Amino acid sequence: MKLYNTLTKKKEEFVPLQEGKVTMYVCGPTVYNFIHIGNARPMIVFDTVRRYMEYKGYEVNFVSNFTDVDDKIIKKSIEEGVSAEEVSERYIKECKKDMADMNVKPATTHPQATQEIDGMIAMIETLMEKGYAYDVNGTVYFRTRKFEEYGKLSHKNLDDLRSGNRSLLVSGEDQKEDPMDFVLWKPKKEGEPFWVSPWGEGRPGWHIECSVMAKKYLGEEIDIHAGGEDLIFPHHENEIAQSECCNGKTFAHYWLHNGFLNIDNRKMSKSLGNFFTVREIGEQYDLQVLRFFMLSAHYRSPINFSREIMESSKNALERIVTAVSNLTHLAQEAAVDVLSDAEEKLLAEIPVYRKKLEDAMDDDLNTADAISAIFELVKFANTNANDASSGAFVTALKKEIVALSDVLGLQVEKKEENLDAEIEKMIEERQAARKARDFKRADEIRDELLAQGIILEDTREGVKWKRA
Ligand SMILES: [Zn+2]
Repeated sequence: MKLYNTLTKKKEEFVPLQEGKVTMYVCGPTVYNFIHIGNARPMIVFDTVRRYMEYKGYEVNFVSNFTDVDDKIIKKSIEEGVSAEEVSERYIKECKKDMADMNVKPATTHPQATQEIDGMIAMIETLMEKGYAYDVNGTVYFRTRKFEEYGKLSHKNLDDLRSGNRSLLVSGEDQKEDPMDFVLWKPKKEGEPFWVSPWGEGRPGWHIECSVMAKKYLGEEIDIHAGGEDLIFPHHENEIAQSECCNGKTFAHYWLHNGFLNIDNRKMSKSLGNFFTVREIGEQYDLQVLRFFMLSAHYRSPINFSREIMESSKNALERIVTAVSNLTHLAQEAAVDVLSDAEEKLLAEIPVYRKKLEDAMDDDLNTADAISAIFELVKFANTNANDASSGAFVTALKKEIVALSDVLGLQVEKKEENLDAEIEKMIEERQAARKARDFKRADEIRDELLAQGIILEDTREGVKWKRA
């Protein structure tokens, strides 16, 4: 599998540090509100990287943080008259709900910054001991000039940045030795959450959080670090500086970044009034449509969100869902179950589509081409499956479409069908309970189903059910 590495500006063959295992860190959101669709892009894209790695047989340790101490959280808590913790806990819960609706798998670990302060203090102490950090009146800065490789990720000309930054220096920042130095620890302001440190009461800077959480949950040297391209500089550049100077090892071997998301061809911003939360989109569309939209472009390309494109994404996804639904119906109605010779020959052709999907995904996660492969398979199914098809044939086609869509995390079986499967499972459980003479449990299940509007009929051919 090839991945484009921001560090080397090249597509490189992915070779993990440890055979069969992947360690991956993705910068998570600051939890002061519902997540917006700009947050959703890295979540969906890097969940797809993870799913594909797992599909290839890797065991993936996937860590994504929640930044739960930040100026915006503090501002919101003051506005609402509640604690910062209450604000962040609320939006972590809401974020997890949105993630589930987008079919983004929960991380192996979702660390929270406020629970990792000891680790941050320890890392800052090491950096001070090694001469990479200095304290000015309770503010601790990272000494960028001492790290010769500073700038290697963003490929920026640091001297240009230095002179640019120097003219922008705001008062109070002139205590820094160098305009590029950044904050590791800042002193508390009245009414803010704070922790006790060797440099006084205060709180950590944002960049140190990720270095510490990646180290604690994944190790000093990791395979993949990912996030939006807006994080390359300064956030990821600073993470590299902190981690590599503290640990003396290469921090992350592959740096992956997704492109920007625009709204109606403009940058998303609250002031332009084109700011959408995932929750708002979810009120109008199944969030599978949002996932489909995000994956229909290459993850490194900029992507434009608009009403029209959501409508066309909805229609495109619907074509897959309809094909699956038709195949389900054909399987139920099939007169014969056994494959004919002609069907067997046709089924021998379908591995071609899986191969196409894998080739696309192996080429730096080309999800757009992977989706095209699914559409080719859908077309193949629509052309070759009909009333005369055997049950085995249509079921095999359906399974393959569902499986290929699942590689991308796209759910293409109708919710009602999933529901049907659940009902069947409960009926089986009831049968088992009756067999075991546990009539109380059997009656309970019947009542539970009845409450959902499902009526059971015990017939000579077994249990049948219908919706009331
Ligand atoms: Zn980060």
